[in-house]
Amino acid sequence: MRISGKEPAAEVYPGIYRITLPLPGKKPGPVNTFVFTGEPVTLIDTGTLQTAPLLRSALNGLGLDFKDIRNIVLTHGHIDHFGAASIIKSESCATIHASGMDKRAIEKGSDISAITFLRFLKMSSVPIKFWFALWIMTLVFRRMARTCPVDTVLGNGDVVRMGGYDAQVLETPGHSKGSLCFFLKKPGIVFSGDHILSHITPNAFVMLDDDFDYPVRMSQTEYYRSLEIIEKLKPSVVCPAHGPLIQDLDRITSLYRKSFARRQELILKIIRSGKNDVYSIARRLFPIVDRKMLILETYLMVSEVFTHLQVLEDEGKVCMERRSGRILVSIPG
Ligand SMILES: [Zn+2]
Repeated sequence: MRISGKEPAAEVYPGIYRITLPLPGKKPGPVNTFVFTGEPVTLIDTGTLQTAPLLRSALNGLGLDFKDIRNIVLTHGHIDHFGAASIIKSESCATIHASGMDKRAIEKGSDISAITFLRFLKMSSVPIKFWFALWIMTLVFRRMARTCPVDTVLGNGDVVRMGGYDAQVLETPGHSKGSLCFFLKKPGIVFSGDHILSHITPNAFVMLDDDFDYPVRMSQTEYYRSLEIIEKLKPSVVCPAHGPLIQDLDRITSLYRKSFARRQELILKIIRSGKNDVYSIARRLFPIVDRKMLILETYLMVSEVFTHLQVLEDEGKVCMERRSGRILVSIPG
């Protein structure tokens, strides 16, 4: 099985090609889309709006064009995964498949209101001077995608025909509410989206919801539960949405767990040293921040610390008290 290649479209298995498209910034790196050239011609993820011409030319290299795509299957509702779906659909009769949980993000560009977003920043004690820049950042990101309607909602038990293969749908929430993986049983291949990556530990983003004042879903807990679902399949290859293909899943997931445990230890240590709000803990945990990426990094680190604190609170290791819309963290007596 070929697992690398700098050519625009690299075959990873007969009739399945990886097309890697650039993405601004260093992390998570270029995005992998996968095209199944058999009938029905199927694309897993699309890259951004801006890389649609590159996607088209890579497809042309395989003798295909947007008009030939019958299925667009989205691993989740982040812009670098669905950004070009609308353009492809406008030139084809493709059906767009995704999780119901990420439907709003794909159809509206975000699954939460500005108020919910700002409420989380306040809750986390992010300085007010960053709030406006953070909201603007989310609007700039949205320009990398064109929203599109989801035609078919997928969930556990569904099977999608991709090329000549039947792909089993697996709900794997954690990275996003509606993250999906797709499993080809016979060759033992999992398409993991951002749920499993080899070069960085995936983010289990805080799951905000307009219906609640406080995040109720436990992103990290859900993430590790979802990881077990994939581990049990014992895939021979995992095709992630960023970075190289993975043939040693056990090694990768054990690294995730080590880094998870280490983060939690450090967070507890920082709280013991006197830091008692999410932002201060995050700044201590991640002291070196890329200044050019300060705004984005601020959100990523606050989200990560918050999701770890949820687990620590659940285990009785910390208390998270809400006072005037802010969270104050302490170690129970
Ligand atoms: Zn993502």
